[in-house]
Amino acid sequence: MIVVMEKGVSEEKLERVLDYLQGKGFSLHISRGIERTIIGVLGDKNKMEERLPLEALEGVEKVVPILTPYKLASREFKAQDTVITIGDVTIGGQELQVMAGPCAVESREQLLETAAIVKQGGAKILRGGAFKPRTSPYSFQGLEKKGLEYLAEARETTGLLIVTEVMDTRSVDLVSRYADILQIGARNMQNFPLLKEVGKTNKPVLLKRGLSATVEEWIMAAEYILAAGNNQVILCERGIRTFETYTRNTLDLSVVPVIKHLTHLPIIVDPSHGTGKWRLVGPMAKAAVVAGVDGLIIEVHPNPVEALSDGPQSLKPEKYYQLMEELRQLAPVMSRSLSGTAHFEKTGTEG
Ligand code: PEP
Ligand code: MN
Repeated sequence: MIVVMEKGVSEEKLERVLDYLQGKGFSLHISRGIERTIIGVLGDKNKMEERLPLEALEGVEKVVPILTPYKLASREFKAQDTVITIGDVTIGGQELQVMAGPCAVESREQLLETAAIVKQGGAKILRGGAFKPRTSPYSFQGLEKKGLEYLAEARETTGLLIVTEVMDTRSVDLVSRYADILQIGARNMQNFPLLKEVGKTNKPVLLKRGLSATVEEWIMAAEYILAAGNNQVILCERGIRTFETYTRNTLDLSVVPVIKHLTHLPIIVDPSHGTGKWRLVGPMAKAAVVAGVDGLIIEVHPNPVEALSDGPQSLKPEKYYQLMEELRQLAPVMSRSLSGTAHFEKTGTEG
């Protein structure tokens, strides 16, 4: 349930209510809005239904039950959009954020070259997997710690922020030392120990939608991270399994307004994994912006034919520059902006 405090309530009254609830054994999450402070009360449902005399306490305006299974992620708990700030980069605010880079960190040269391209195109965040979740155990599994070191070097030389995947509870500490944003991959969306572990860090978490996850399951996964104390969660739609096989996945753009309606969390779209085909990345990226996303994550490779993973869905540098320019022109239509300066060379839609 939510306890809504009166406008401008004193700290003393707030403390008294918090003490009372703590004494009952509930876990409390405080959200301080511009006008009001709201207390999210989590815990034993039966105890909550005991009709606590909360409204009798001074400073309490009303008590509202949250009917959805997710609480902290809900719009009822927090009406304003969550804006995540990392240095001078905001996610969920007015500016669209593009995270771009290779599927996997393959070598120092490949990563530094791609980072320079990503920077040149105007994105502020570099993506790249050092730990790769591959369907086959015989496929390239990532450079692991070396890959993280190359990412850190790329950040140093370009000033880009780093988003990279953490696959396992045992490597959360290690990856947190290098990453600015921790990525939870689609296959790990319901790895609850991992969600709890990243929930204990102070790093923003990019939570990809599971391959066959419903909206509710996905938000419940976010709830795990929030309940563990980390309120910096970014959702990422990356396509789901349907009967269609022409595309790698079916990119569910309708979830963008759904997530915006149900939650206060930022949402970005991954048109690369969402389609599996470079030719579809630009159109779906633009459609995502119109659907209301807060950002995009896009695979870019200097030479996709040679890529060790996901070459067919990776944009060549010129295609990436072109897309960034198109997004820059499109953003104002949605009252958004996108950083960077024009580097527009129209190269057509083929090859
Ligand atoms: C990736 O971003 O490279 C990746 C493996 O994504 P997903 O978990 O969405 O498949
Ligand atoms: Mn990939």
